[in-house]
Amino acid sequence: MILNLCYHSVSYTDYMYSISPELFERQLKMLSKKFKIISVQELVERIRSNNLGKEDYATVTFDDGLEDNYTNAFPILQKLSIPATIFIITDLIGKVHTNPSGFESRFISWEHARSLCDSGLVSIESHTHTHPYLTTIPNQAIQREVSNSKSLIKKELGHVSKILAYPKGDFDERVIKNICPTIDAAFGPSGVLLKGEQCDVYAIPRVILSKKIGLVKYYALLHPISWRIKRLCCK
Ligand SMILES: [Zn+2]
Repeated sequence: MILNLCYHSVSYTDYMYSISPELFERQLKMLSKKFKIISVQELVERIRSNNLGKEDYATVTFDDGLEDNYTNAFPILQKLSIPATIFIITDLIGKVHTNPSGFESRFISWEHARSLCDSGLVSIESHTHTHPYLTTIPNQAIQREVSNSKSLIKKELGHVSKILAYPKGDFDERVIKNICPTIDAAFGPSGVLLKGEQCDVYAIPRVILSKKIGLVKYYALLHPISWRIKRLCCK
């Protein structure tokens, strides 16, 4: 089974998508007992070359690029030597943003993003420039969202980002057509890959972690049987 975890915040805040540092560490320890944790780049390479083999692979990713990924999650990733990728919203780097429900988020600075890249353990990829629903905007705007984001990553961090996480997992065939000339792979739908399943490199599934997933639910996520049952029930 291939399991790609998607975190947002590792903190003690009330934000629905935040996980405490202690829970984050426990989850990663459980994950590493059952899966070989690889980088997103290695996963993409394996999907593209049809080389997923027989092993159970997992990746650890973060969406949006919150500052606590650096202050709270990174020390735990280092302690456990677990690779991870942060998909950043380039327009929000170094800013504090208040969402419509009044929740305030602090985003990572370029300086901290650079330290993460320098560690060799954490990579930074694109989550677009302003995080729109891509299916709702015109073709040129989709291309601009990706190119602006890629240019800033290149300018500030020195590498070309070729992997994307669709904002809010929102994508369709038209979005893929617009991003594929400059992006090699993208994360979008919710779910996992079970043994033998083919994966569209522009629709790699992930599982979003939130406060709703306690340790028991999390334990179930790690087992293919729970996914098979879930799919049977959804048919
Ligand atoms: Zn996002």
